[in-house]
Amino acid sequence: MSSRPKFLTDATLAKLAKWLRILGYDTSVYPKEAGRAMLRLAQAEDRIVLTRRGDMIERQFSGRLHLLKQADLAAQLQEIIEKYSLKPEKEKLFGICLKCNKILNPIEVEKARDLVSPYVYQHCKSFNQCPVCQNIYWEGTHQRNSLQFLQKNKIKIN
Ligand SMILES: [Zn+2]
Repeated sequence: MSSRPKFLTDATLAKLAKWLRILGYDTSVYPKEAGRAMLRLAQAEDRIVLTRRGDMIERQFSGRLHLLKQADLAAQLQEIIEKYSLKPEKEKLFGICLKCNKILNPIEVEKARDLVSPYVYQHCKSFNQCPVCQNIYWEGTHQRNSLQFLQKNKIKIN
């Protein structure tokens, strides 16, 4: 059992959820209106609720909930990292499907041949696949841009 915290954001924080996934944290997005059912789900799945809805803290809830103060995405990410003493590790980066929040599986280079463009196939050495949406991930521009964003915003990767 991992002691890494898991999160559940409300639908307005989908971007933050994506970044937590990039950092390797299991983060679900609640697709409907934030409310009692969202809190129940968080409790059932042992997730920390992240929300900007002030009325959420007025509800009776014995689980963990954090009301975000920051509006800016990078600042929100910092806020969560500090609040929960997260130490994002290099090996865990880019290990989760940004769409499905599922852990990616490495796939053989040969198998990736028909699934990515010839250019990508030629230039990348390792590929990962989402077990749900079958999306293929590789070390490319998107990952480099993400790393730049983290660097620029002084988010430390261990
Ligand atoms: Zn997926």
